[in-house]
Formats: sequence, C-alpha cells, structure tokens
Amino acid sequence: MNFTLSPAVLATVLTTALVAPTLAVAAPDLPTLRAVPGGVVTLSLGPSSQPPLVRHAGVPVLVVGDPIEWTAVLGVPLAAKAGTDEVTVQREGAAVKRQSFAIAPMRYAEQRLSVAPKHVELSAENLARHERERARQAEVIATFSEPLPATLRLRQPVPGARSSSFGLRRVFNGQSRNPHSGMDIAAPVGTPVVAPLAGRVADVGDYFFNGGTVWLDHGGGLLTMYCHLSAVHVKVGDVVRAGDRIADVGATGRVTGPHLHWSVSLNRVMVDPALFLGN
Ligand SMILES: [Zn+2]
Repeated sequence: MNFTLSPAVLATVLTTALVAPTLAVAAPDLPTLRAVPGGVVTLSLGPSSQPPLVRHAGVPVLVVGDPIEWTAVLGVPLAAKAGTDEVTVQREGAAVKRQSFAIAPMRYAEQRLSVAPKHVELSAENLARHERERARQAEVIATFSEPLPATLRLRQPVPGARSSSFGLRRVFNGQSRNPHSGMDIAAPVGTPVVAPLAGRVADVGDYFFNGGTVWLDHGGGLLTMYCHLSAVHVKVGDVVRAGDRIADVGATGRVTGPHLHWSVSLNRVMVDPALFLGN
C-alpha cells in the first residue's frame, strides 16, 4: 500500500516532530523483551503530539518514541503474579485510560548459600541499620530524571563470567530470604567497574548487605547499582560517561567471595540485567 501525506498534514507532522522532546530511543535500542516477573515489556501507545504519561502501580514509566508512535518500556516486578496487569495512560487533555498486559509464569530456581551468621541473624543494631539503609535505597530507586537514556542497551560493567543467578529464590544458612535481584559477575578484588551507560552518580554508600555500593541514574527511571565494591572512585552528583571507571570489585557486605553484584532498576523494579546486554 502506498499513501501520500498532503502538504498541510506533512507540515503538521514535521512541526510536531520538531517541538516534541528529542528523547527518542529507537526500537533497535530496546532491551530484550520478556513478559515474566523480573522481565521487561513494551506497550504500544500509538501516536500523540506529546508522550503520554504512563504509570504502573502509581509509579512513572519510561516512554520512548516519537509523535508517530510512543512506546512504554516497563519493568515487571519479580513478585508479580502470572496473569494480567495494567498501567494507566494519560494523554494531554484526555481522561486517564487503563491498558492491560499479560505476564507469563516463571519459576526461578532455588539457591542455597552459606554466609557469616551476622548477615542472617541480625542483631538489633544491624537490623536498625538495615532499616535505615532500606529507606535510603527506596529514595534513590524512586529517581526519575531527564534527559531520558539515549539507549537501553548496556555494556557489561566488568569483564568475566556472568552468572545467570537473577531471580533465584535464596536460602542463606538454611533460612529463606529475598530473591536475588541482580546479576553476579565473578572477578578478582580490584577489577575496574565501568559505567555501562552515561549517567549521574545518585548514591554512594557502605551498606550492611550490599557493602561498598554505587548507584547510577541514567534518566527515565533507569538506574543501575553496583555492590560489594572494594573502592569507589566517584561521588554523588558526578556525571559519568559510558566506560568511565566508577569503582573496583570487592567482597564487602554479605558475600561468599569477590564478585560484582549488578542490578538494573526500571520504574523502581529490579529487572534482569542480562536483558540489557548485547548477546
Ligand atoms: Zn548478587
């Protein structure tokens, strides 16, 4: 089929395209899509002059594209149940609409680990510390900044063997704990950790479970976290380019040995980092 836009329509399209924010992420730069808990889904939002405002459980969702076709890129919580979920979509001057999407079931394997007893049976002091740190992390993960990320394809922050341990239901010293919400990459202490994408340093800390930690904010609710670090070479507010050394691999916090724990968060949801890496 062949169709031609009239000059008037074409002028409107061009003007709209020019005034719309130049924040487009082209389709080839999307992560690998997987409609399962811990995965990423896209939702077609159709055309509109401005990007629609999309929320999932009240949380802003990344929207990419252009006035011809907007797309929501949504992280699915690890705790999500299989079935149907929905987002709200608000277009300029229009009522809020609901748009549903399907989540397929996913059964992650179980992992049994032995760690120092203090990281399983928390003292009152460590429990209070962990509660403070959890509140801090909730603040950081809620960051939604602009500009939006130029791509949703990330480079691996450390060379080395990637474990496929995302989502594992973990049992520490015989006790069930939260599922593993990131990727572990085995590497010796001191191995440089590089930014996988341009961003801004959103948090630096020494945390009870995560040890030496850096958070990067890449815009649009996409954040990445690096844990168990032996050294940190950035401070909060620093702007980093893809490939900049931000820290060194270590074995701090709750670990069984040196490695990088790497998490990727989208709309405040930890999703599988493997989906953002090339092959
Ligand atoms: Zn880990």
